[in-house]
Amino acid sequence: MKSNHLFKKTAKYIPLGERAESVPEVPEGLLRRCNACKAAVFVEEVVAGSYICPRCGNYFRVPAYARLAQIADEGSFEEWDAELAGSNPLRYKGYGEKVRELRERTGLREAVVTGRAQIGGIPAVLGVMDGRFLMASMGECVGEKITRAIERATEERLPVILFTCSGGARMQEGIISLMQMAKTAAAVRKHSEAGLLYITVLTDPTTGGVTASFAMLGDIILAEPGALIGFAGPRVIEQTIRQKLPKDFQRAEFLLEHGFLDAIVERERMRECLAKLLKLHCSGGEIFDRNLSMAQKNTGQDSRREGMIYGDSSVSVHAWEHVQLARDKRRPVGHDYIERLFPDFVEFHGDRYLRDDPAVIGGIATFGGVPVTVIAQEKGEGTKGCIARNFGMVSPDGYRKSMRLVRQAEKFKRPVIFLVDTPGAFCGMEAEEQGQGEAIARNISDLFGVRVPVLSIVIGEGGSGGALAFAVADQVWMLEHAVYSILSPEGFASILWKDGSRAREAAALMKLTARDLYRMGIVERVVQEEGTFPKREGFSRETMDGVLAQLAKGIEEFMIQYGNLDEEELLAQRYQRFRKF
Ligand SMILES: [Zn+2]
Repeated sequence: MKSNHLFKKTAKYIPLGERAESVPEVPEGLLRRCNACKAAVFVEEVVAGSYICPRCGNYFRVPAYARLAQIADEGSFEEWDAELAGSNPLRYKGYGEKVRELRERTGLREAVVTGRAQIGGIPAVLGVMDGRFLMASMGECVGEKITRAIERATEERLPVILFTCSGGARMQEGIISLMQMAKTAAAVRKHSEAGLLYITVLTDPTTGGVTASFAMLGDIILAEPGALIGFAGPRVIEQTIRQKLPKDFQRAEFLLEHGFLDAIVERERMRECLAKLLKLHCSGGEIFDRNLSMAQKNTGQDSRREGMIYGDSSVSVHAWEHVQLARDKRRPVGHDYIERLFPDFVEFHGDRYLRDDPAVIGGIATFGGVPVTVIAQEKGEGTKGCIARNFGMVSPDGYRKSMRLVRQAEKFKRPVIFLVDTPGAFCGMEAEEQGQGEAIARNISDLFGVRVPVLSIVIGEGGSGGALAFAVADQVWMLEHAVYSILSPEGFASILWKDGSRAREAAALMKLTARDLYRMGIVERVVQEEGTFPKREGFSRETMDGVLAQLAKGIEEFMIQYGNLDEEELLAQRYQRFRKF
């Protein structure tokens, strides 16, 4: 997405080398060789440049205190539990000496540094793991420091950001090490139940017991480009399956595609990105109220019915023409609305299960200073773009991504705004194998229990259950030439009359236009298109200002009306809204 420069997927990324274990730290001394481009580089220059090779852009591993300096506001970091040390529960021979030797060599007490800092002026608990210390494996001390940091964050109601890097559990500490996975995960859960934000940043490599506990439990999971992330290490997998793994296997890009990361963020932009995310989560209930009452003053109260705006010109338009206008190639699609209505939008990816569906764009933004979650069905732009987005036909993973973001919105008390534009849910073998029906049913059902206001706007095509899974809302609006129906007129004609060519006739019968649906109480508001742009130019991303202005005003009114409604009342109204049909 254009507006979303922090999360560019196309980031220039040079592979770090064959395997994680071959990636060096920046060694001491004046001049060293970069293992990616083999150039001799000045250590000083690498350190000054965020531990990135000045020649080829290769990422070196970052020591904990250097990372803290990159991320925290200058002088704001206050270290916690600096002196905490672990024991040797198995009395493992040579372990004590090894730890002592590493302490001397690295200047670290253990493999993680935790404390409080400010990022972009916002206080947060920050923890950074350091691979130089026994591959940042998690023993008693690492687990304890992380748990204490999270517990203290819960007490002081602070967000937590953890930079992970780990070979996994610390073998030398045996079962005590394994228990750290449960201990840290439990602390994360309490922090989450308190409604607080937890962000993890996965750096190279994050594996084993750390991946299988606190690393993968972030509300938002970010990663550095190219980072190796996995449960089992590549060597173990290769030995088990007796095959060589593909080069990109278990890399951050692979995980993003498979739905496990919200975004990949380049190192140079990490601080800015974290500051933005913290800011988007700062505005809790109080700010919500204040902004809404400000908005209230500007717009006046209860303008609900004013929303029915209708140009006379559309009266004569045949239903089939609405269908054609709704499908017009030049018609603005999901991302056009997001970019213009929510310029600070940050996109999150993935269903945390299988895949990231490109037919759905979801993320967070602010509207009038109030944080909102926006989820759009995205048809794409141009032939290539449409193919990449599967023409807005959503797959089960798209519905699951959507629901994941709705739950996230609920946790942080953000209203949800859906943009509907799909010919229908994707019909394909994989979609069936992965439970298309179940995914849609789950969304429809779960949306009735979501304790934040939900608004749904049909901007183009609202096709079948695939649309309804994005339209169980407190209010549903339609653009004047959008359509919303049980299925396409072609499908309707072919099922009822065995003749798909009678689509025009079917369209007239189906009551799929905004005007019809408004009359039937299916939608609360119709957003005028006719008369908001010169007729000869047609409705496009160049001529959508008039529509955007109506939407902006409408969304503001919606937030005033629903923003401070009692939760039980909100759910009861939503139930009744659909019960009446
Ligand atoms: Zn290099």
